[in-house]
Amino acid sequence: MAQRLDGKKLAAEFENHLLREIEIGLSKGIRPPGLAVIRIGDDPASEVYVSNKEKACARVGIASYGLHLSAKSSESDVIAKIYELNSKELVDGILLQLPLPRGLKESSLLSAIDPNKDADGLHSQNLGRLLKGEPGPRSCTPAGVMALLANNQVDLEGKRAVVVGRSILVGQPMALMLQAANATVTIAHSRTKDLESLTRLADVLVVAAGCPRMIGANHVKPGAVVVDVGIHRISSSSLGMENQSRSHLCGDVCAEEVAPLASFITPVPGGVGPMTVTMLLVNTVSMWQQHCGLSCTLEDLLP
Ligand code: NDP
Repeated sequence: MAQRLDGKKLAAEFENHLLREIEIGLSKGIRPPGLAVIRIGDDPASEVYVSNKEKACARVGIASYGLHLSAKSSESDVIAKIYELNSKELVDGILLQLPLPRGLKESSLLSAIDPNKDADGLHSQNLGRLLKGEPGPRSCTPAGVMALLANNQVDLEGKRAVVVGRSILVGQPMALMLQAANATVTIAHSRTKDLESLTRLADVLVVAAGCPRMIGANHVKPGAVVVDVGIHRISSSSLGMENQSRSHLCGDVCAEEVAPLASFITPVPGGVGPMTVTMLLVNTVSMWQQHCGLSCTLEDLLP
C-alpha cells in the first residue's frame, strides 16, 4: 500500500519555519511582510481559496491586503489597481486569484504585476527565470509538489516522469522543475494518444488534467510515485456512496484503485492543496527578505 505524501503536515512544518524567519525580521525592527490578494467577481470557490490564503497569512504573521473588485471591472481598472500595489512599500507580494471573470485576459493582467512582487510566480519573467534555472518566485502548485517529493526522499535523478496536463499554471512549470531535478520528462495532454501506455512507463506520475478520477489502476506502473493535483467536488451518488445527498472531494486519480499499486500517493484533500498555499507564503516571505535587505534564508524551500 502506498505511503501518503502528507501535504498538510509538511505545510505546517513550512509555516513554523516562516514564522521564525518573520520573527527574526521583526526583532530587527523590520516591518512585517505583506501580501495583496486581488479577487475579481464572485466565484464561490475563489472566495473560499482567498479566505484560506488570508488565514494562512495570519497564522505566520504576513499582513494581508484583500482587494475585491467587481466582475464588471475593465482591464484598465484592474491594471490601475495592480500598478498602485506595485508601488506600495508595504506590499511584498501580489496575487491575482484565478480564474478571472469572462472578458478579462489573464496574460495582460499577470504581466502588469511587478515581477519582484509576483507571489504566484506566473509572470513571464519568472517563468523565464525557471526555464533558465535562475532564482525567483516559483509557481506555487508545482513548487509545492517538488517540496513534497524532496521532503519524502523521493529521488528524481534519472527517473522517468510523466506530467498529465500542460497548463501554464501547473503542467508546464511542473515539467520544467522535474527536468531541473534531472528526471526525464514527458508531458501528456488532451490530444495525447493511448495515455495509458504512456503513464504506465512513469516512475513519477503527476496528474493535473482537471478530470475527476480519470487515472485508474491501468494507468499506473506498480511502485510508481503518484501525485494528484486535481481537486473536484462531486456528488456522493457518482461515487456509489450510501449517503447520496452529500458531496465529496476527489482528485484526478481514482485513489482506491491506485493506492494499492503505488509506492507513494498524495491524498485529496490534504496533499498538493495545502502545499500550494504554503508556497505562496514562501514566495512572499522570500521577496520580503529581499525588499528589506535581509539575508535570503528560504532558498532551500524553493525548487
Ligand atoms: P487546465 O484546465 O488549465 O489544464 C488542464 C490540462 O490537462 C490541459 O493541458 C489539458 O490538455 C489536459 N487534459 C485535459 N483533459 C485531458 C485528458 N483527458 N487527458 C490528458 N490530458 C488532459 O487546468 P489546471 O492546470 O489549471 O488545473 C488542473 C487541475 O488541478 C484542476 O483540477 C485544478 O482544479 C487543479 N488545481 C489544483 C491546485 C491545488 O492546489 N491542488 C492548484 C491548481 C489547480 P490541453 O492543453 O490539450 O487542453
